[in-house]
Parts: sequence; structure tokens; C-alpha cells
Amino acid sequence: MKSKTVKATTTLIIVLSLMLTFSCDRGKFNVFTVQDDKELGDEVHAEIEKDPATYPILDKTVHSELYNHLYRIRDVILASPDIKYKNEFNWEIYIIHDDNVINAFAIPGGRTYYYTGLLKFLEDEASLAGVMAHEVAHADWRHSTARLSKMYSYQTILSVILGDNPSLAAEIAANLALGLTALAYSRQDEYEADEYSLRYLGPAEHDPRGVAYFFEMFDLENPPSTVSTYLSTHPYAGDRITEIYRLFAELGYAEGNRFTERYQQIKALLP
Ligand SMILES: [Zn+2]
Repeated sequence: MKSKTVKATTTLIIVLSLMLTFSCDRGKFNVFTVQDDKELGDEVHAEIEKDPATYPILDKTVHSELYNHLYRIRDVILASPDIKYKNEFNWEIYIIHDDNVINAFAIPGGRTYYYTGLLKFLEDEASLAGVMAHEVAHADWRHSTARLSKMYSYQTILSVILGDNPSLAAEIAANLALGLTALAYSRQDEYEADEYSLRYLGPAEHDPRGVAYFFEMFDLENPPSTVSTYLSTHPYAGDRITEIYRLFAELGYAEGNRFTERYQQIKALLP
């Protein structure tokens, strides 16, 4: 009995010290390491690539000119000193060929995905830059693994990282892409991603209020079904528009350019 108690106490101490080791990233509870984010991202991306019916990724060789525009905008974002994992993460970009979906998503470890439905819907480059910066912020702030920390045990996620749990990897991919409720970002995550989209783009030549411009394109009271997914994965649109304008004034950034004409060149490259 006694040794059992000692054993249990020892286990508890080990678990607690592990939790303390992994527990915080910029004040956020996260049991996963940065390396875990990268490996989980690799697993989730492998599941996405295995399912081209759901995720028809546009070929990068055939559509190199289109991709180059997105890389150019991504590199403006990654030049921000506010990006913590610029060198650690894989910031690859993927365009998913589905005109019916107005959405974008990030997976742990840096990769971001943009639907052609979103790219066709937008009307200026500042809005696209805002949405991209918002997704980059979700990845850089490790919002997904912070959510996963609350949902699954470390052991369960470890099985995904090790490649032993493809069904959960696929489930996580679907959760992130479709914003299924379980993994949906919290209100605080959304505000944080908006704030950092402003901070990343504030010093750049783009107008940094792109996320607000994007939301302003919707009739938020009666959103069309094509955007309901984006609005459900990125909720609180009305309040967030207000907050973006308030922060913009507080941070004192210059107006910037919306690049409406240049965006037409991007649109013209879409299949
Ligand atoms: Zn978001």
C-alpha cells in the first residue's frame, strides 16, 4: 500500500512538472511543445493531401504565378518582428480549388490554406493580406494546440504526432478546415488574431485593416450560405470590425494602400 502511494505521488509530481515545463507560451496554457506543433502539422497536412476530393489543392507548378502573389504577401507578413516562429515553422501556402467556399484556415506549425471561393469574393489585396495575417497569427500563437490541450490528453495527441492515429489526424484536419465546433477558436483567439493581423501589416505598405474590410463585404444579418462557414469559424464579426478600427487608431498606423487594381491581376490568374 505504502509503495503504491509513493508511486502515485511520484507520478503526480512528474505529471505536474511536465505540465509546468510545457505550460505557457506568451501566457497561454499549452501542453504541447513547438516541435509538437510542427509534427502535428505534418500529420494533418498529410491527411489533407490524401483527400483531394475534399481538398483539391491547386498545382503549384501549373499555377506558379498565382502562388507567387500569395508568397509575396506572406513574406510581407513574415517580415514582422512580432512573428515568433518565423524560422521554426513551415509557412507553406495552399490554394484549394472550390469556388463555393469562402474560407481560409491554418493548421499547427504554420501552413495556411485559402479557398478559391475566398480569392474570387475579395476585391482588394489589403483584405487578402488581412485574412492571411489573421491565419498566420492563429498558427504563430499556437491557438490550435492550445485548444487541443483542453480537448485531448497529451498521450492521444502524441499518437497523432507519431503517425499512429490517422483517423484523429483526419478529424483534426476537418475540424480546422470546416470549423467543426469542437476545435473552433475562442473569442479571445479571434481578437488576438485580428490584433496581430494589424500589428504584422501596420508597418507594411498595405492598409492593415483588411479583416474589417472583408467582414464589411457581408450582410452580417443574413449571410449567404457560402460564407456561413467562415463566419462560424471566425465569429463575432460585428464587434471585431469595431475593435479593429479602435486598435488601428490606438496603434497610430498610416492609412496604407488597399491595392484594388493589383488585386485584379491575382483574380485574373484564378482557374
Ligand atoms: Zn480566426
